Amino acid sequence: MTNERERAGSRSERPDRGGRGGRGGGRRPRRRGCEFCGEDARRVDYKDTAMLARYLTERAKMDARRKGGACAKHQRVVARAIKRARFLALLPYTSEHVRLSGVNPVRR
Ligand SMILES: [Zn+2]
Repeated sequence: MTNERERAGSRSERPDRGGRGGRGGGRRPRRRGCEFCGEDARRVDYKDTAMLARYLTERAKMDARRKGGACAKHQRVVARAIKRARFLALLPYTSEHVRLSGVNPVRR
């Protein structure tokens, strides 16, 4: 019993070319991951609505975490920036707000 476990645990060098057998242990998505992590990371700027808009849904909700690809840490930073931008009326709060204000930073 323990034998099998060990065999599964030890990583033999197999080519393993991206079959979808692995069950989601990867915390880092293959697409470059969080854009705010790393050396040449951009800073989270609440004035950069074009960037913040990517972390909003069409209805201007704060979702799209997977789409944005930010890590949990920077997701929080982004969320704060979004809230600040909303407060400054740089971003809409809701889709209704978008309609009323006529501003739609989320380009579609
Ligand atoms: Zn990050």
